[in-house]
Amino acid sequence: MYRCRYLAHGLYIGLYELRHCHLSIHAPEEREKNNYIQGYLGPKKSKVDWEKLFEKKKQLVEGMRNGEIPSFCKGCHWIEEFDENSENQFLTDFEPYIDIVWLGNFNECNARCMYCSAFEAISKKITTKDYGVIELLKEMFKKKIYDPQRILNSSISFSQGEPTLLKNFESILKLCEKYGNENVALYTNGIIHSRMVEKLLKYKSKVRIRIVISLDSGSREVFKKIKFVDKFDSVVKTIKRYAKSLNKENSSALGIKYIIVPYVNDNKEEIDKFFDLCVNKLGVKYLITDLEEKWFVRHNGEVPEYLKDLLRYFRDKCIDNGIQFEFFDRALVTKL
Ligand code: SF4
Repeated sequence: MYRCRYLAHGLYIGLYELRHCHLSIHAPEEREKNNYIQGYLGPKKSKVDWEKLFEKKKQLVEGMRNGEIPSFCKGCHWIEEFDENSENQFLTDFEPYIDIVWLGNFNECNARCMYCSAFEAISKKITTKDYGVIELLKEMFKKKIYDPQRILNSSISFSQGEPTLLKNFESILKLCEKYGNENVALYTNGIIHSRMVEKLLKYKSKVRIRIVISLDSGSREVFKKIKFVDKFDSVVKTIKRYAKSLNKENSSALGIKYIIVPYVNDNKEEIDKFFDLCVNKLGVKYLITDLEEKWFVRHNGEVPEYLKDLLRYFRDKCIDNGIQFEFFDRALVTKL
């Protein structure tokens, strides 16, 4: 039997849709089937029928248990297999609640990362602003659709656009504080430093923020080639301030990522510079690596030996130096 915890309880709030998750990494062409409301335009214009939404989830969960894997889930590493006689039958998968939310409701940004799904929109300056996601979050908290007091590991992730540009960025964090939502993940480019984030990193609030900044380089030249903006120094400054604010109990609340982009930063020299800067100069204790998604999909997930070597090199360097480390999605599924 099969299951996916996100299919059961995930909600991706997109620009024009609500989906089960932000993934479908092996089946991006099927991503549009991964939704319950297409044409969602935000709480002012579209109502969410929560009953229908959970009914749809229930059917998919039931189907997946019986081996009917939705097309948008094909090849996904989050699918778990379990035995029909095993003790844990994961019956909570049928319960109607959301415990992980991804905010993908806007795509404005102050960088132009070549691997971003919004690259074209950002380059053409036709990005989409937030449609007022805070109202939807309030509704979910109030109706206990999303209830971090009951489901303790519930989490909210900012996962598209640059969150610090969001008008309601701090209000969303305050809302999380008000409803006792501890886990917030922030994917930011670090060009803008946020005082509120710095405060949260000290753990003086209920919100236990986790930040990931993709630096992807150890030098200004390579940074510019990937991000198309000359902001390497600003990002380094932000990382330094966040690293200094980190509560010692949780040094993994700040992760710096190196997305390997073939033909741009795929060499040990750049990884060494990145490592030296982050670890020795900025005091970062947690590093992450991944492979660039568009390249990965174009190559059907077939990763050449030299890239596997680089992933191993990155991992071993972290282990040898006592630095916490993680492989993200594509690096995670690459057999090393
Ligand atoms: S199996 Fe993968 S693609 Fe499908 S809902 Fe779960 S995380 Fe998303």
